[in-house]
Amino acid sequence: MSQIMTNFDPKNEFSDRMKTEQTYWFVFISNSLLLQHDEEGYSVPCTDVPPIPMKEWTPRQELPMLNGKPCVAYSLSTPPADMKGLETVGLRESWNVLPYEFYNAAGKAAELLYWDENTRYCGMCGAPMKRHTVISKRCTNCGKEVWPQVSPAIIVRIRKDDDILLVHAKNFRRSEMYGLVAGFVETGETLEECVIREVHEEVGLEITNIRYFGSQPWPYPCGVMIGFTADYVSGDLHVQEEELSNAKWFNRDHLPPIPDKMSIARRLIDDYVAEKASATKVKVKDEQ
Ligand SMILES: [Zn+2]
Repeated sequence: MSQIMTNFDPKNEFSDRMKTEQTYWFVFISNSLLLQHDEEGYSVPCTDVPPIPMKEWTPRQELPMLNGKPCVAYSLSTPPADMKGLETVGLRESWNVLPYEFYNAAGKAAELLYWDENTRYCGMCGAPMKRHTVISKRCTNCGKEVWPQVSPAIIVRIRKDDDILLVHAKNFRRSEMYGLVAGFVETGETLEECVIREVHEEVGLEITNIRYFGSQPWPYPCGVMIGFTADYVSGDLHVQEEELSNAKWFNRDHLPPIPDKMSIARRLIDDYVAEKASATKVKVKDEQ
C-alpha cells in the first residue's frame, strides 16, 4: 500500500466496521455530493458497502457517528459509468434538500477531504505525510504534525434607525440578491477589529455596538462564518468596487431577494424582520 495514502488501513477496526455495519457514505465527485434520489426526496446513501466502489488509493475520511451509524467520506475524480440511481448535488445546494445535520456532516466531510488532498507532502521538507490520528498527519521524515485549519470570516448586520444595510457582492450567483457585509479575518486581528475594518473598506462607514450573534461552519472550502450586529455611527455609503456592485439601506417592509434559509446571513436578516413581529404583538397586547 502506498505510503502517501496511509489514511486507510484495510486491517484496522474502522474498515472492519465498514464491512459489517450500515454506514452513511458521503461521496464527492469534484465539489458535488452523491445523493440517493427517490420519491421521498434526497438522502445520503446508507448501505453496508460503498455505493460506488473505492480503490485502495481512493482518498477517504472517517467522520463522527450520525444517528448511531458510522460515517465515511471519500472522493472520486470522475463519475462512475453506472450511477445506480444516485445523483450529484452541489454541496451548497444540498442544504436545500438534506436535513441540517446531514448537510453539516457533508460540509465537514468536504473540509476534511480538502485538507487531506492539500497535505500530502510536508511543508517543511517535502516528504510524504502519514495519517497519525483521524484529524492529524505527521511527516514521515521530519515529524512535523499538521491538523485541519479553519479560516474565520465575519459577517455583520448594520442598523441605521429602522433600516439595515444590505449589499450585492460581485460573487453572488443571483444577480438580484442582497446579503450582508462579510470578509476574512486577517492575521493578528480580533474579530471586532475585522468587523470595523471590513465595514470601513467595503462601504466606508463607521460603526459601534458590535455584538456577537452566532456562527456557522462554512465549508467553501474550510471556513467558519462568525455573525455580528452593529449600529451605524457616521459616513456616506461608498462601495468598494472590487468586491461589491451595490449597497443600500433597506427596511424590513421592502426587502430584496435575500440569502437562503440555512445561512447565517439569512438568520441575521430574519432576526431583524422578527423584531417588528414581536413589537406588533406587544402593541396589540397593550391595546387590549
Ligand atoms: Zn517533513
